[in-house]
Amino acid sequence: MRRSQAVMRSEDHPGWEQQQRGLWEAVRMDPLRTCVACRVKAVRGELLRIVLREGRLEVDERAVLPGRGAWVHPTVDCLKLSVSRRIFARALKASGHLDASPLENRLEKLMDN
Ligand SMILES: [Zn+2]
Repeated sequence: MRRSQAVMRSEDHPGWEQQQRGLWEAVRMDPLRTCVACRVKAVRGELLRIVLREGRLEVDERAVLPGRGAWVHPTVDCLKLSVSRRIFARALKASGHLDASPLENRLEKLMDN
């Protein structure tokens, strides 16, 4: 009968424990992001990433777009606050007018629900 992974002991498999610790470190090291609106810290998965592209604030749904990003809770309160106070311009160190229409659309959709 083969022993399952779950009962594998570290002395039988040097390096296994170290590997587990490495995974744990990776999770723990996932840096917390601060919501630009309410300034509460959260892990990436709970926040929406916003990037600046050609003067337009784009919602980076999968958090994959290059460039500087700002993070915000995908909630009516936080989106509203960040759009109305032009917080993203500051967070993204942008000057001039920023087109926030993608965010406004997002907000409208949220409020419809
Ligand atoms: Zn927030």
